[in-house]
Parts: sequence; C-alpha cells; structure tokens
Amino acid sequence: MKKDLEKFNELVEAFNKLPGIGKKSATRFAYFVSLQDTFGGLKLAQCIEDAVRFIKRCERCGGLSENEICDICADTTRDSSLLTIVESPKDILTFEQNGIYDGFYFVMEEVNEEVINKLKKTITINQTTEVIFAFTPGLNSDALMIYIEDKIKNPDIKFSKLAQGVPTGVSLENVDMLSLLKAFESRTKT
Ligand SMILES: [Zn+2]
Repeated sequence: MKKDLEKFNELVEAFNKLPGIGKKSATRFAYFVSLQDTFGGLKLAQCIEDAVRFIKRCERCGGLSENEICDICADTTRDSSLLTIVESPKDILTFEQNGIYDGFYFVMEEVNEEVINKLKKTITINQTTEVIFAFTPGLNSDALMIYIEDKIKNPDIKFSKLAQGVPTGVSLENVDMLSLLKAFESRTKT
C-alpha cells in the first residue's frame, strides 16, 4: 500500500525533534511551510542547510563562528584583559545582545585536561588579568570554579563570578537583561 503524506509526516517529525517543539506546533509548522508559505519554506530549508554547513566553533573561544576565529576574538578593540568563561556558545549571544561586556570569552562545555590547557593558553595569549565565571549558579558550578582556579594557579589573575541576581539553577539565556547586567557589574571574588 502506498503511504500517503509520508513526506509531510517526516517533516512533522523533524520539527518535533527540535527543542521545545511539541507535536502540535510541529504539525502547524509543517502545514505552514508546505502549503501556506512555500517560498518561505524553501528559504528556511536553504538557511538551515547553510547554517549546518558553514557555522562552526571558533578555534579560540569555542563560540559560534563562520570562520576559524570569530569576530569577537578577532576584534582588537576589545579589552583582552577580561576573559569570561561560559557554559555554552549561546551564553555569548546573551552577553553580546546587550553590550554590557567588551572582553573575550571562553566556552567550557566540559572540563578535562585538554580544555584546561586550552584555557591556560588563551590566558597567556590574551594576557588576561581577570577571569570571570558566568556559570549557572549552583553547587556544581562552585566546585567547578574552585577546580579551575586551582588548575590555573596564577597569582596575577583575579577570579570573579557573577553576583547573586542570577537565580540558582537558571541558565543565562533565561535571565533577563537587567538582572544579568546587575550580576555582571557587581561581580564578586570567588
Ligand atoms: Zn572566538
């Protein structure tokens, strides 16, 4: 028996796999791009293909980039003495959206010798004087900060973390801009 709507159902399933998209929304999207806005649908397909092909991680900070080195790392007007460690490339976008910070970033999605060595190298190249931890507040992140500080072992570097104001367990992308700005400006010594 010939399966009708096989392609439609595949599209629904593909949308359904996206974070935060339930079956209902997935069906609406699939209907919209295949019948209501076919031009938009083709454009979306092209955008997705380009993004998947061209977006990668910056070799230096681990953030999103279309080049080896991202625009932030390549920007010589930024304050290279500041290095903010974030948990995800998405957190860089959150900081950049409101322009509260003009230093550099380092994405730390996992912690191992290789990442720590890369971090040390970045600190040396940038001549970092302050490392700012912008982790989701919680017990794990406190332990992690102590661990990283200990590994870096550099008395010339000041370590600080975002002040309270970023609620415990809430990731940066869900924190409102004003809270993030306050947390950043009143950052405290770790
Ligand atoms: Zn970069």
